[in-house]
Amino acid sequence: MKSVKQRKVNLKIVRDLRHIYNGKCQLCVINPSENFGVDILESPHIEYFSKSQNSNSDNILLTCPDCHNILYKLNPIFNDETLSYVFKKGNILALQENKTIITAQQERPQTRMKTGSMVFLVA
Ligand SMILES: [Zn+2]
Repeated sequence: MKSVKQRKVNLKIVRDLRHIYNGKCQLCVINPSENFGVDILESPHIEYFSKSQNSNSDNILLTCPDCHNILYKLNPIFNDETLSYVFKKGNILALQENKTIITAQQERPQTRMKTGSMVFLVA
């Protein structure tokens, strides 16, 4: 049997997210069910579960496999203020749909912004 290491996400949360976002990827707004008749959306953590231990809906995105793969391979930093991913080369990928992610201004501690050379906040 093939073993896949994966953080378990509460299935109810994922079902709720699919309902809230109407089956669309929050990043590119593609709806695989509508376009291709297959539900292939994925639910990556925004802040790695290994760091945050947070599997609540405010730390989980609903994405298509392509967007998830880009996040996985390039490991961009999520900016809590702009609700967008910032890549090492400077590219920005903003959430197109958001009803569940809390912005930094709304009280989330800025733990996701630990990053080497990038600075997002202006004092
Ligand atoms: Zn997508």
